[in-house]
Amino acid sequence: MPKEKLVCSSCKKSVTNSKGTARFNCPDCGKTEIIRCAHCRKIAAKYVCGNCKFEGPN
Ligand SMILES: [Zn+2]
Ligand SMILES: [Zn+2]
Repeated sequence: MPKEKLVCSSCKKSVTNSKGTARFNCPDCGKTEIIRCAHCRKIAAKYVCGNCKFEGPN
């Protein structure tokens, strides 16, 4: 299995081995995993689901 590369869904930075990262499935379609780094959580940066275009964090 190829090693999964984790990048923040908002800022596209690598979050591998980063603390405070949140991973969850899209609240709307549940098919895409959203990854948010600690920084983007703090500033409430937007994320967009690649599958259904749901925009968070709300
Ligand atoms: Zn980020
Ligand atoms: Zn979605």
